[in-house]
Amino acid sequence: MSDHRFRARGTPDHRRGGGDALRYLVRGPAPDRGQPLALGSGAARRGGPHPSGPPPRHGRLVHQPPRGGERVSVASDRRVVLLDRDGTINEEVHYLAHPDQLRLLPGVASGLRRLAQAGFALVVVTNQSGIARGLITPAALDAIHARLRDLLAAEGVVLEGIHACPHGPDDGCACRKPRPGLVEAAQKQNPFDPRRAFMVGDKKADLDLGRTVGAFSILVRTGYGRQVEATSGYRDAPIVDDLDAAARLILQRSS
Ligand SMILES: [Mg+2]
Ligand SMILES: [Zn+2]
Repeated sequence: MSDHRFRARGTPDHRRGGGDALRYLVRGPAPDRGQPLALGSGAARRGGPHPSGPPPRHGRLVHQPPRGGERVSVASDRRVVLLDRDGTINEEVHYLAHPDQLRLLPGVASGLRRLAQAGFALVVVTNQSGIARGLITPAALDAIHARLRDLLAAEGVVLEGIHACPHGPDDGCACRKPRPGLVEAAQKQNPFDPRRAFMVGDKKADLDLGRTVGAFSILVRTGYGRQVEATSGYRDAPIVDDLDAAARLILQRSS
């Protein structure tokens, strides 16, 4: 469960990440503001073949301290699809709190397999305010994500990371979508250029997050997607039926 593989010695960044965030949360009285949860990151593997040879080495670039407050230049050849969880990967359940409630939506297995085979890393970014509301325990969230990885592994799909915001809407955290904290956490764990990434989700917050970080956003009609399509007048992102259709659009756009 360690995400320290990419953290060089002497790095100026001593902040905790990955499983440490979860341990903090379990011990601490309340979720730390601005501290997203990254679960199961130790199982991260690259999703597919690398057409241009061996995987890029990130270590050297990543751990140079930022100059002049600018973001560090990171390996930009890694292609990433950022994925919402509820209503996009699994059936929307109001405050899903138990692994048994997890059901993959139609088209998810084939869509994610398609993306993985094309070399995309798959990173889940999910708001889980049920934690702040006391409706989901951090342990249950961990179990849910272990189950999610199991269901997808059975379909031949490996997620590179799962990043969750445990805070409520009024907590003022930096990671609740559409704020970019979860994407930054994913970048810290395994660098990529979000401007070359895609963001797929069923809510406006997902699309807005994509726009904020410069990714290409796609709305799926699963989950709340149809409602968003009907009510929000959202015109900035293409709208597709499900994750399989989103995957085909991504491959089309990135070929
Ligand atoms: Mg959703
Ligand atoms: Zn948060």
